Amino acid sequence: MPVTVELSILVPVFNEEESIHYFFQRVDPIVKELVGSHEYVLVNDGSRDRTVSILKAMAEERSDLTVINLSRNFGKDVALSAGFDYSRGQAVVPMDVDLQDPPELLEEMMAKYREGYDMVIAVRKSRGSDSWFKRMSASWFYALIGRMSDVAIPANAGDFRLMDRRVVEVLKTLPERSRFMKGLFAWLGFRTVDVYYERPERAHGHSKWNYWKLWNFALDGIFSFSTVPLRIWSYIGTLIAMVSFFYLGIIIVRTVVFGVDVPGYASLLSAILFLGGLNLIGIGILGEYIGRLFVESKQRPLYIVDNVFGYGGDEPSSAR
Ligand code: UDP
Ligand code: MG
Repeated sequence: MPVTVELSILVPVFNEEESIHYFFQRVDPIVKELVGSHEYVLVNDGSRDRTVSILKAMAEERSDLTVINLSRNFGKDVALSAGFDYSRGQAVVPMDVDLQDPPELLEEMMAKYREGYDMVIAVRKSRGSDSWFKRMSASWFYALIGRMSDVAIPANAGDFRLMDRRVVEVLKTLPERSRFMKGLFAWLGFRTVDVYYERPERAHGHSKWNYWKLWNFALDGIFSFSTVPLRIWSYIGTLIAMVSFFYLGIIIVRTVVFGVDVPGYASLLSAILFLGGLNLIGIGILGEYIGRLFVESKQRPLYIVDNVFGYGGDEPSSAR
């Protein structure tokens, strides 16, 4: 018999021994107040600290906690996907364990959900808690991807959102290995509404992000959700071909009128280097897409579960 749970809270955790305890302390009373039945699905994303043993001890004490222990670190987006697969709630909310997604907002989200919305997105009012550089790069990124992609990816929204079971079931059918979650959420559509909040600083422990990871994340978003970079090269190619024909005409006329002149080393070399450089960039862009095709075509499972313990320590609602 399927278990019916009103609300699932999904939490990916990676080396969070300092945060887990505070998370439950703050979220628990709010969740219990809000719904009649709930579950927590914590996905341990290959932590190397005491996270697993803390979770094990907790799962023995609590009757509402399922722990999915992944075989290694797969990254937050993949960990979330594992969480979705194991969640059973009518409504599902992914949350960070560091309390940067304020649980107080759940009340407003549930209210909107009960009004009939399928997805309630928590949108940050400002990026005050981020550094200047992070704010700038984020706004550039959203401007860029907004122009390049067909789906409207909302700026200032992360994974913190409430989703109806129907949305989750569709999300679970998306097969891609590259899990740019913000994009996938946006691609799904459904009846969506925003609620606004101030994002606080991380409460305990420290962030696992650095600028290199953010950069790769941004590239992932662009190359997974747009083919504009490919198309740009058709335009660049056309433009350069036209300029070249024009220049060819000039050279022919000049040769006919003034005869052959040998000098031309500098212009020749700069043309070769310029075109060679453009070629390499073009190949690099092609490579980005081919690399993605390669990864997708291997059809490896998205994640590997080492073991599951706690409340629902059995099969996921759909294995992949
Ligand atoms: N996280 C994860 N796997 C990772 C990195 C992070 O599951 O490889 C989890 C982390 O434990 C936390 C959430 O994702 O619950 C957000 O991570 P973090 O606070 O480091 O990111 P930020 O808030 O700085 O974007
Ligand atoms: Mg955080």
